[in-house]
Amino acid sequence: MASPEVNPTKTEPFKLVLEHVSKWFQTSSLKVHALDDVTLHIAEGEFVCLVGPSGCGKSTLLNIIAGLERPDRGLVQADGKTIVGPGPRRLMMFQEAALFPWLTVLGNVLFGLKLNTGLSVAERREKAEYFLELVGLKKFMHSNVHELSGGMKQRVALARALAPTPTVLLMDEPFGALDALTREQLYGDIQRIWSKHRKTIVFVTHNVREAVCLGDRVILFSPNPGRIREEFAIPLPRSRDINSVDLARYSTEITRVLKGYVQLEVPG
Ligand code: ADP
Ligand code: MG
Repeated sequence: MASPEVNPTKTEPFKLVLEHVSKWFQTSSLKVHALDDVTLHIAEGEFVCLVGPSGCGKSTLLNIIAGLERPDRGLVQADGKTIVGPGPRRLMMFQEAALFPWLTVLGNVLFGLKLNTGLSVAERREKAEYFLELVGLKKFMHSNVHELSGGMKQRVALARALAPTPTVLLMDEPFGALDALTREQLYGDIQRIWSKHRKTIVFVTHNVREAVCLGDRVILFSPNPGRIREEFAIPLPRSRDINSVDLARYSTEITRVLKGYVQLEVPG
């Protein structure tokens, strides 16, 4: 529900607008203040990384943008319109690939296109193959999902999320469960895909280096209640190498700031 203090007139040029967003969860024993007065404007085609420790409301914020949760206070808009529910223009990708084990790689990507009734069977197939090619998995399209490594599964999930051509991609710690080497490959892939297709990406991670490697901006959150504390522009040229010295300089600084907030909020 929009609260009276927000002014939607200044929100138009942005792809995503969050103003004064607050969210509480009531559990059986206590009320959790998950998000407090979060204001964030994201431009079309921007890659924004949300960083913070566990429990600072990052997933809640993504769910709100996805339309899976409603804020208790504040304004949430995509393309100037209030987000009232999920839609095919804003798709989410999770840490666990959440693929259907009974479908092949191709079947999983096609599944994401089933709702797109405007496409013929042949067009869907062509689209699915295109995105599998893009993530480097076309030759595995007839494989069963259980035959794939964790990194390959995330690639399938990425192809499945991209195939319905969303304009906003919401990624919740998508590489969190992968080993470092696989992650590095995926950093390269996601940068390449983003440069080519220019989605607006909101990417959640607790890995500062990962955020600096990928983001135009890194937004720092702190918990209890979940708040935006600071944001950093990352003007480094792309494609970025996670191991570069310039990148390390940014991540060292951001980590230092983040640690300050976390110690401040959670003593001991
Ligand atoms: P993060 O993704 O940054 O780890 P979350 O958005 O998952 O944080 O959670 C923020 C806070 O809200 C946490 O304290 C969490 O326990 C609480 N929370 C999130 N979802 C629910 C829910 N459905 N019911 C109760 N509490 C929740
Ligand atoms: Mg989370």
